[in-house]
Amino acid sequence: MSDVKIHRVKPEWKKNALIDNETYLKWYAESVKNPDKFWGKHGKRIDWFKPYTKVKNTSFTGKVSIKWFEDGLTNVSYNCIDRHLKKRGNQTAIIWEGDNPYDDRKVTYNELHEYVCRLANVLKKHGVKKGDRVTIYMPMIPEAAYAMLACTRIGAIHSVVFGGFSPDSLAGRIVDCKSTFVITADEGLRGGKPIPLKDNTDKAIEIAAKSKVKVDKVLVVRRTGSKTGWVEGRDVWYHDEVASVKPDCKPEKMKAEDPLFILYTSGSTGKPKGVLHTTGGYLVYVSMTHQYVFDYRDGDIYWCTADVGWVTGHSYIVYGPLANGATTLMFEGVPNYPSASRFWEVVDKHKVNIFYTAPTAIRALMGAGDSHVKKTSRKSLRVLGTVGEPINPEAWEWYFKVVGDKKVPIVDTWWQTETGGILITPLPGASDLKAGSATRPFFGVQPELVDNEGKVLEGTASGNLCITDSWPGMMRTVYGDHDRFVKTYFSTYKGKYFTGDGCRRDQDGYYWITGRVDDVINVSGHRMGTAEVESALVSHDKVSEAAVVGYPHDIKGQGIYCYVTLMAGEQWSDDLRKDLVAHVRKEIGAIASPDKIQFAPGLPKTRSGKIMRRILRKIAEDDFGALGDTSTLADPHVVDDLIANRQNKR
Ligand code: ATP
Ligand code: MG
Repeated sequence: MSDVKIHRVKPEWKKNALIDNETYLKWYAESVKNPDKFWGKHGKRIDWFKPYTKVKNTSFTGKVSIKWFEDGLTNVSYNCIDRHLKKRGNQTAIIWEGDNPYDDRKVTYNELHEYVCRLANVLKKHGVKKGDRVTIYMPMIPEAAYAMLACTRIGAIHSVVFGGFSPDSLAGRIVDCKSTFVITADEGLRGGKPIPLKDNTDKAIEIAAKSKVKVDKVLVVRRTGSKTGWVEGRDVWYHDEVASVKPDCKPEKMKAEDPLFILYTSGSTGKPKGVLHTTGGYLVYVSMTHQYVFDYRDGDIYWCTADVGWVTGHSYIVYGPLANGATTLMFEGVPNYPSASRFWEVVDKHKVNIFYTAPTAIRALMGAGDSHVKKTSRKSLRVLGTVGEPINPEAWEWYFKVVGDKKVPIVDTWWQTETGGILITPLPGASDLKAGSATRPFFGVQPELVDNEGKVLEGTASGNLCITDSWPGMMRTVYGDHDRFVKTYFSTYKGKYFTGDGCRRDQDGYYWITGRVDDVINVSGHRMGTAEVESALVSHDKVSEAAVVGYPHDIKGQGIYCYVTLMAGEQWSDDLRKDLVAHVRKEIGAIASPDKIQFAPGLPKTRSGKIMRRILRKIAEDDFGALGDTSTLADPHVVDDLIANRQNKR
């Protein structure tokens, strides 16, 4: 790769930061040397009804068992709401920014307390008990957060299903966790378009019934007021129900290891897994990472653009920020509606200090042109974050230069649904930054690189990313299938949590995620991560996005097949194709020379915005008869176009 530019910590980033480099190194050393002591101390950042006396009790071998703070009693909604009331009852807890820029709302901690208590009482009234599973299928409105918190208040386990999912996907998730209570809305609204959530729910319930899972109650929030189907006795209105119960509800005393929620992974690599998180360790870990990774300070306005349907929304819109008494912004809309300036207009409108989004959004906004950014002020920004996929250095530099005006540090946070919270990340006041690197592990996280035979790689190396010991926020099992948990994560490399991601460690001990291990290609005996070739393509000034896969090649073993999306207004031509080949050769070397380049007006992405390379691999192999599970695909139509224009037709 061309030379990596280091962005050193600026004095103004360090000035009031919670953690500087010395502190990072010191705490990190303590955290891995004596996890019991370290977490025993930091576990106290949340309130416990009964303090824990045991801290860590975990094993990555045999049946695999993970317990943190196991004899402590606490409650998540108590920690996210009640304990703040004395000091910040009238502070805004949630700023809601609607799809329509004229639509917004502020909810104080006092109000949040009342709404969550009422909803918890509604759940109780309908017989929902501790341990029951409640499915939440909602648009991005505050009621989605109330629903999650209401479940935690009474000890019910929520399963949030992203509002963009189809009736089939929703049904599959209802059946998998045998959920009999669903909370939804009449419709959602995104980019001006309604999404028929209630109608989808009705269909999903029918589908679920075929698998003998009967949903008894559907609680419906009125969002748009549109007409929907209605089943008497089963369906009830949220506004009627919450008006009929008391505004106070005592939080249930939960054991630290009681289940908190189930969340299905986004399905980039296959059938989604029902990841189970528990109460105490999870909350300690997400509140601590939220504070230190974003250098969150009292009074900051914090905005994470994810959907609550993803783990990022769970940990860094709802639980982490609220546990810290923050003001968290919840956005109903999309980045390019009404225009590609929307994010930055919202930043200015609400004076956002901390902004956290995904590479897919950054690349799309970069493709739309700088003018949309430059016409806004963005003066309030202090920290920028990214999560979800490897961020190409080109997109990173654009984010840094154009969005942050070179004044704001970027935290590239690597983590997974399974990890509960951020594992590898810079800290704004501590870490020198390298575009495209998630940099160093968070406290207590011990990454290790191993080769395919499991041999541990030391120093500068490239391999499979494992984590060798437990951290409090990690998943405890796959819901209802502990064997799958052990097999998926702990059997590839015995005694280690295997992430499924490939990774490189450089001479400074910085980690560079190179993509999924399945996406590593082997060209004439040279292993390379697809992320590297993609970044080279995106560094060409006409390219906004690229996806690279391997395909069988008679001579090289694997050939390099590239799908390329151009910047707005650029035209595709054979000359450009040649130019791109030359550009990649110059950036990486002849070995990475693309064999095939296909112009792609759109790429197949999961609903969370990640490129689904396994589908692109099939198309590149000219074997698209069996594309596998495509139920989590955002727009199935892009696949037809890619198939029609494939470069490897037999
Ligand atoms: P499935 O496990 O069902 O295939 P998924 O892995 O896409 O779905 P998530 O848990 O949402 O589901 O995503 C985690 C993955 O996202 C990581 O394993 C990694 O591949 C990628 N990822 C997340 N953040 C980063 C980042 N900062 N840099 C590089 N990759 C990232
Ligand atoms: Mg995954």
